[in-house]
Amino acid sequence: MPIYEYQSSDRSKSCDYCRDGFDLLRKLSDPAPAACPRCGASVTKLISAHSVGFSRSGLDQRAQNAGFTKLKRLGKGEYEKKF
Ligand SMILES: [Zn+2]
Repeated sequence: MPIYEYQSSDRSKSCDYCRDGFDLLRKLSDPAPAACPRCGASVTKLISAHSVGFSRSGLDQRAQNAGFTKLKRLGKGEYEKKF
């Protein structure tokens, strides 16, 4: 089950809970929350690497996942790894 990370879209109106982001485990069928469950401030979904598929190899995998843009396309189906 994926974990979604949300953060207040307006930090000046956020509470301690949503100011720096919070994780939410939810089913795909559940609607995405539009507001902080504690203070009601509007929240935006962050790009989160710690969904099920990336949790196996921990932080290294998360870093690599975040570095997708470092892959340079060399040709058809070939990518040079910049790490
Ligand atoms: Zn809040």
